[in-house]
Amino acid sequence: MMTPLEFDQKHLWHPYTNVEKPGPTFVVKSAEGVWLTLDDGTKVIDAMSSWWCMLHGHKHPKITKAIHDQLDVMPHVMFGGLTHDPAIELGKKLLEITPSTMQRIFYCDSGSVAVEVAMKMAVQYQHALGFEGRSKFATVRSGYHGDTWKAMSVCDPDTGMHHLFQGALAVEHFIDRPPITIDETWNEEPSANGLSELRAIFEAHGKEIAAFILEPVVQGTGGMYFYHPEYLNQARALCDEFGILLIFDEIATGFGRLGKMFATDFCAIEPDIMCLGKALTGGHISFATTMTNDRVAQTIGNGSPGIFMHGPTFMANPLACVAAKASLDLLAEGDWQSQTANIAAQLQTELAPARELPGVADVRIIGAIGVIEMKHTVSADQAHGMVKENGVYLRPFGKNIYSMPPFVSSPDEVSKIASAMIKLAKVL
Ligand SMILES: *Cc1c(COP(=O)(O)O)cnc(C)c1O
Repeated sequence: MMTPLEFDQKHLWHPYTNVEKPGPTFVVKSAEGVWLTLDDGTKVIDAMSSWWCMLHGHKHPKITKAIHDQLDVMPHVMFGGLTHDPAIELGKKLLEITPSTMQRIFYCDSGSVAVEVAMKMAVQYQHALGFEGRSKFATVRSGYHGDTWKAMSVCDPDTGMHHLFQGALAVEHFIDRPPITIDETWNEEPSANGLSELRAIFEAHGKEIAAFILEPVVQGTGGMYFYHPEYLNQARALCDEFGILLIFDEIATGFGRLGKMFATDFCAIEPDIMCLGKALTGGHISFATTMTNDRVAQTIGNGSPGIFMHGPTFMANPLACVAAKASLDLLAEGDWQSQTANIAAQLQTELAPARELPGVADVRIIGAIGVIEMKHTVSADQAHGMVKENGVYLRPFGKNIYSMPPFVSSPDEVSKIASAMIKLAKVL
């Protein structure tokens, strides 16, 4: 007889793992609030918010109740030719909180699909205007937009999967990540602020570029880098000058994580298309959405063939819609603002000593995100080895030891996370 873990290691593929050498894996029996309970009864804090989704903590009673209630009414129905209250009520809620020009909502299953949809919208928009040649994309380095085919083509070409899938992957236009960080003073000199490089790529290739896609203010999986929002204001103007759409991938940054509802709220401008995912349902069930303005939607609608060419089987799944609505209702109560501000202040103080450690390159905090960037690549497996003794689940990647704690984490829980991060920074 195999143990459950032995079965898992023999048969189940995990994200970005070697099937033959899967590395340490924990069996989670249950999860509540910020705590995961493992099969041996050990409780550990989920300092990752389960990949940045679980804003209000695991198994939130309001979200699980919404899903339970909907389960008894209608777990699913196709969205082709049919609609339902959960989709409509969620739509109303999304319009209330997203940037005002975001008026058209496309529901989909996961973040990567939301990015695929956004990129297809951009190509169809250009096509509708008669610009058939505009099917490429511009983006910045150290970005991450998902694992599906087209999303992968705009992920960082060095840390992403470009080498492996070379030849099969469309070649897009990359420029350096915005050079001025959010903590630095903005520099109007285009050669210093990255905008001259953006202009140069638009001048050279603008006629083949459908859209400029990037993660606003905070780059997540590609490097945990925080840059100046003025870059986005000026990029907007350049996009307009060259007829290029602006896509914000807010899948990681949306729903209060940065201390504002959206990263776009740091800017004076709005994108043409915006992708939301991850924390949309408070992390309880897979869901995402691509939103756009009237101009893009109408242009596609008035072009040929008019219809937008996408429609997932589980589009607008009612269980996901009610979970998302319940999560947005929780956000509307407003506690997230003080919660993220308190977490930020506490991480500032408690991660500061890491700056003195020899292996540490940088420590940075924005909203409920704390990052210790090391001078070298760190081992997630080695970090896993310390999970039980530290009582904190952390999963570093690249050079970054980071946490995005659930907003409901108490000061004591945030302290445990901060000291576990510092401990890792000392040994990894
Ligand atoms: C996680 C992420 C995605 C992909 O979302 P999935 O739900 O994993 O497909 C896309 N963009 C950004 C910025 C992300 O952080």
